[in-house]
Amino acid sequence: MTRDELMRRLAALRQAQVGGRRAPHKPLLVLWLLGRFAATGRTHVELLPARPGVPEQAVRLLMDQHFTPALEPVIREAVGLDPAVLGGVTDLAVGRGRRKRRAGFTEEVLAAYAYACAFCGFDGALGRHPVGLEAAHVRWHSQDGPDEVANGLALCALHHTLFDAGVLGLRPDLRIQVSPVYVARSEAGRAVDALRGRPVAAPRPGRPGPAPVHVEWHARQVYKGAGAGAA
Ligand SMILES: [Zn+2]
Repeated sequence: MTRDELMRRLAALRQAQVGGRRAPHKPLLVLWLLGRFAATGRTHVELLPARPGVPEQAVRLLMDQHFTPALEPVIREAVGLDPAVLGGVTDLAVGRGRRKRRAGFTEEVLAAYAYACAFCGFDGALGRHPVGLEAAHVRWHSQDGPDEVANGLALCALHHTLFDAGVLGLRPDLRIQVSPVYVARSEAGRAVDALRGRPVAAPRPGRPGPAPVHVEWHARQVYKGAGAGAA
C-alpha cells in the first residue's frame, strides 16, 4: 500500500454515530495503533508503512477530520503519540480536500467578546497582545462548523479545552453547564463548578451570540450530561 492509498483510506473513515451522537471509535482505534507503533516500532495490523513521516501524517489527518485542536494534546497523551517521537510532517499532501479555517475568524471572535473569556472573564495580555485566549468553535470545524462569529466563543485556553472535552456546555438559554461526570480534588479544579448556571458573556453590540443550532449540536454531540461515560 502506498502512502497516498493509506491516506485515502483514512480520509474515507466514516463519521460513525450511535443514537445520533458522534462515536469516533475508528479514528481513536487507529490513533491508538499509531501510538503502539510509535512506542514499539511494530503494530499487529500490517497497515502502516514504516517510512518516515507517514504515521504523523496519518495522525494529522485523523485529528483534523474527527477532533479539535484543543483535544489533540489530550488524545495524543492518552494514546502515546508524541509529535517529537513521530517526527514532523513535511509533505502536506494530506491536506488536500481538507477545509481550511477562514483567516480572520479568530480575530473576529476575540474582538466580538472584547478579548475576554466568555465563561470566566479572563482577559490576560502580554503587553497589548491577548495571551491564553482562543476562538473556540461551538460546532467543531472538523464537523462542518462554520468559521463565523455565530459559531464562535472567545474562551481562555482552559475553558476551551473543557468545552471541547464536553466538561462545559451551554444550555439553550446560554447559561453554562458543568458535566455531572466532572470531578476535581483541588480548590482550583473545583473552581470550574462555580461556572454552573452562570450566563455566557454577551458579545459586543451588533455581533451575534452563539446560534441555537450550533449550541444544540454541542449539547447533543459533545457535552457529557447525566449518563455520559468519562470516555
Ligand atoms: Zn475562562
